[in-house]
Amino acid sequence: MNPLFQATLSKVFSKPAPFQSFSIEEILEWGKKELEFLGIQEAAAEAEKLLREVSGCSRPALYLKAKQPVEAKHLKQYRQWIRLRKKRIPSAYISGGAYFWNEYLEVREGCLIPRPETEVLVERFIDVAGFSKEKSFRFLDLGCGSGAIGIALLRYFQNARATFLDISEAALQITGKNLARYGLLARSEILRSDLFEAARNVSKVNPKKWDAIVSNPPYLSRRDWESVEPEIFFEPRQALDGGEDGLVFYDRILREAAEFLNPGGWLAVEVGQGQAASVAERMQRNSFKEIRIFQDYSKIERVLMGQANC
Ligand code: GLN
Repeated sequence: MNPLFQATLSKVFSKPAPFQSFSIEEILEWGKKELEFLGIQEAAAEAEKLLREVSGCSRPALYLKAKQPVEAKHLKQYRQWIRLRKKRIPSAYISGGAYFWNEYLEVREGCLIPRPETEVLVERFIDVAGFSKEKSFRFLDLGCGSGAIGIALLRYFQNARATFLDISEAALQITGKNLARYGLLARSEILRSDLFEAARNVSKVNPKKWDAIVSNPPYLSRRDWESVEPEIFFEPRQALDGGEDGLVFYDRILREAAEFLNPGGWLAVEVGQGQAASVAERMQRNSFKEIRIFQDYSKIERVLMGQANC
């Protein structure tokens, strides 16, 4: 056993005397080993993320201050957070937030935790859809969860407006908080909706269409559930479960999306591993054109984009 870890371990578990202190470096090493021991992937990154959030320090600050003592109240909270993380509660639910794109978003149980691979959708949309930063256009974030995708796009496209839809009241509350955090409420509308239902209702009163739809729908298949990490069971199943083959929501989305898009309007969706071809085929069948598939950083086909034909 690494001597630094051994020394830290015995200090952390012995009742800390009031004068006893731990350096940032020691406590990080302890947190990492605790998580590693439970087989948590990316233990070092997670231990560091939790300490950053406990202490309010940036990453470089943590390393610059590596030898300095951790404040007693931070130490207490860090120990408590590591204890929760050992129960496999996702760290975003423990700290109440997650980083996504250029944002820090509030996240609570009841709302899907934004994933780094979803940033690929934001990136590709910015590169491919051809909207300029000055253009005023309207998009719909379907199944918005924490609001991650839509918020990233609203912050990039400063004249865009967005409609956020989700079936979960809990998720919509978080979306609202995150929009408020970044001063985006004035450019947003938030509606509780089973897929497009509310969009259809508002369009009846005030006929309107959107210039783009972005969505990360639930896409885990029955088989996927057999190999998921335990953390996922803390997340809302309705944000993840895509039915038997994982494709249930793409069927519904593709059948209805064109109805809500202006001619040439873009649809950008995230898909699960191995689903790209099936979703592309559904796009084609529903008259989408310019269909493109993009990989994530693990070379998994992750995002599809296509344009409504009429
Ligand atoms: N990427 C998520 C996961 O594999 C699933 C997200 C989704 O269903 N949209 O955990």
